Amino acid sequence: MNTTHNSPKIIPTKSEVDWVNTIFLTTTPIFAVVLSIIYFRGHGFEWKQILLAIIFYYITGLSITAGYHRLISHRAYKAGSLVKFICLVFGAAAFQNSALKWSTDHRIHHRHVDHERDPYNINKGFFYAHIGWIFFKETTPNSEVNYPKDLLNDKLVMWQHRNYLWIAIAVGFVLPTVVGYFLGSALGGLALAGIARVVFVHHCTFFINSLCHIVGTRPYSDTNTARDSFIMALFSYGEGYHNYHHYFPSDYRNGIRWYHFDPTKWLIKTLSFMGLTNDLKKVPEKLILEARHQMKSKKFQSI
Ligand SMILES: [Zn+2]
Ligand SMILES: [Zn+2]
Repeated sequence: MNTTHNSPKIIPTKSEVDWVNTIFLTTTPIFAVVLSIIYFRGHGFEWKQILLAIIFYYITGLSITAGYHRLISHRAYKAGSLVKFICLVFGAAAFQNSALKWSTDHRIHHRHVDHERDPYNINKGFFYAHIGWIFFKETTPNSEVNYPKDLLNDKLVMWQHRNYLWIAIAVGFVLPTVVGYFLGSALGGLALAGIARVVFVHHCTFFINSLCHIVGTRPYSDTNTARDSFIMALFSYGEGYHNYHHYFPSDYRNGIRWYHFDPTKWLIKTLSFMGLTNDLKKVPEKLILEARHQMKSKKFQSI
């Protein structure tokens, strides 16, 4: 079962270097280290600044996994405008492009996983799947027409797409600087909850495209490289159960057992108790067990 919604048919080719992305992705780690050192030298270790950075790490990362990924890319559950708005605003602050662009790429990834058209094809190597693919520009003319219709018809998604850059800068850098100022250091807020946090969220979510296709087991399908790993789930807000996710992408859960570390699933479920999310899609247990059973007998036969 590998269904996605309205995957675009025309696939952009990549050849030209995207200098804006390349400079941003290579300089943010340097700024994070330099500004953090200046801040720590001047202020020492302050728990409130560390806590602010952790809060921003979770809000922006979960806005990508619960918002960009499970809500907008896969429609694995429904959410009211407030939840979607928060996900779009804080998702922008993760600096991973607009939800329209992100989700379009992601649907192509599911449809063409491990093949030439996969935007972050792991067969092109760890570096390419992790970050290298973002260094290149799409060169298909008028790529706007290739976006899926359901996303083009989504007013909030389109509003975020049109205003992406200023939302990202305002919420990703200005807001933590202002909050940091009220906590005693504007520099602390910018360095830790702003820039260092962007770098951490980048690489934790980029792991889903790289290591989650390398590290772990394949209990549901060996027809693609996606793997299940508890360790990777710890770093990726619960997205480490990636073999399950590629086989059953419409399920709002990635870690299906109660003990599976999946904070994204817990957030979506908690919001449903509050009436803020609904129609949480779950694959019937029978189908899950059947998939596992098929994989086990396939392995047994190969022995
Ligand atoms: Zn994948
Ligand atoms: Zn997905």
